[in-house]
This record gives sequence, structure tokens and C-alpha cells, in this order.
Amino acid sequence: MFYLRVFFLMAVTSPLFLIISCNNNTGTLNTEPTESDHFTFSLYDGLPNSITTSIINEMNNNYDRILNDLNVPSLQKTKIEIWDDEAHFQNDMKRDLGVNYPGSSGYIYGLNCIRLLNRGNIAHNAVHEFAHIVSLNVNNNFANNPRWFWEAVATYESGEFNNPKNISYLAAGNYPTIAELNSNFNSGNYKIYEVGYLLSEYIIDTWSKISYVNMIKQNANIESVLGITTQQFEAGWKNFVMTKYFAGG
Ligand SMILES: [Zn+2]
Repeated sequence: MFYLRVFFLMAVTSPLFLIISCNNNTGTLNTEPTESDHFTFSLYDGLPNSITTSIINEMNNNYDRILNDLNVPSLQKTKIEIWDDEAHFQNDMKRDLGVNYPGSSGYIYGLNCIRLLNRGNIAHNAVHEFAHIVSLNVNNNFANNPRWFWEAVATYESGEFNNPKNISYLAAGNYPTIAELNSNFNSGNYKIYEVGYLLSEYIIDTWSKISYVNMIKQNANIESVLGITTQQFEAGWKNFVMTKYFAGG
């Protein structure tokens, strides 16, 4: 069966937003911020402090690995803001970004603030968004630039593997182009969340972890970092997935 994600993650940033306070909202801040070694939480809409426990545990399982993967030696404390009311979450996104993304459950605000809606597996969603934060510390101009690799890194680092045999268009031999994967969240492009892991895996297995990090540093300049054209990359990725996951039926 085709596996469709029930939640979507995205991130938007602009230098305009980087200087704006992280704490304005139309949801009601109901508690004093809760802190851990690496995170400061702000909870809205009546959410209890206990909601942070699973997030902190999941982060502890992934924090050092993600920093190590992306060659980031250390990080300042990351802010995590969580809403329970989806209307508040969307309204505050619209107010602060100038645009909102219906169906989204998380995004990055500025360079070190994660914003989450309390839906789905929120601890996992936090790790996905945290991977975005770490990648921004590699290249602070990386957010959605380009979108396909921005999400490929976050899906890979947060372990969002979908077996290609369960992705209907891959099983049918229809592989999305990089241009297609770059199209906007609000145009209904969610494929990057399904295949992002496989794109990162292709780069790391075929080139190296160093090339993978260099791709972040150079905003996914395929020709410069990997030494091939985008068309060759697309064909090579298809061949990689076919060989690794479909060979032998
Ligand atoms: Zn994302």
C-alpha cells in the first residue's frame, strides 16, 4: 500500500524574520518556559509541562549524532514553541511569516526556534525540525534553498525512511525530478518527505559524508560538489534505488 504521511513538516525563513522575537503569539502562553540542557520550551493553549518529556528523551537519543553527522561542534540552546490549537498555530504563522501552510505541523522560525503543533508524533517532529536547525548552523542561508535538499537532510537525519517498494510512483518507475521536488508545500508537493531519505542515502553511499555536508554548504550545487549534472544525478539516483531496493524483485 502507498504510505501517505499524515503530517507534513516544512520550514520557512527569511532574513526579515530573524530579528523578530520568538515569543509573540495569539495562543496564550500558559507557563513559564521549561528548560533542559539544550532546549527552552514555551507552551501555549494550556499544554502541560509534561509534554516536553518525550521530546527531551527523543532529542537526547539523536542530538549528538545529528551534530556529528553535519560536523557541527556545538550549538546554542534551541527554542521550542508548541501550540495545541491549530487555528492559533496557523494564525501565528501567518502573522509572523506573512504566509501560512495549512496541514503543516512544524516549521523553523529564525535560526534557532522550532515551532510545533501538538499533533502526530510530536517528539519525532521535533527531531525533524531540529535537524533543520543544525543544517542552518552549517549554512545559515540553507532554509528552503533549495527545498529538495533542505528536506532531504532533515528526513534523513530524523530517520524518515520509507521503503521505495511502498511508494507507488517509485514502484511504477516514475521518479520525481529535482525541479518537481523543489515545488512549494502549498502547491501540494509532499513527495520530498517520502523520498528525501533516499536522496541523502544516495549521496552518502555514492560519494561521502563530507560531500553531503558540502552539499549543505553549497546549497546543493550538484555540479560543483558532486561533479555531475542534475540530469546525471537524477538518473544515478534512480539507478541506486532500483539496484538497492528493487533488484531481484
Ligand atoms: Zn522539514
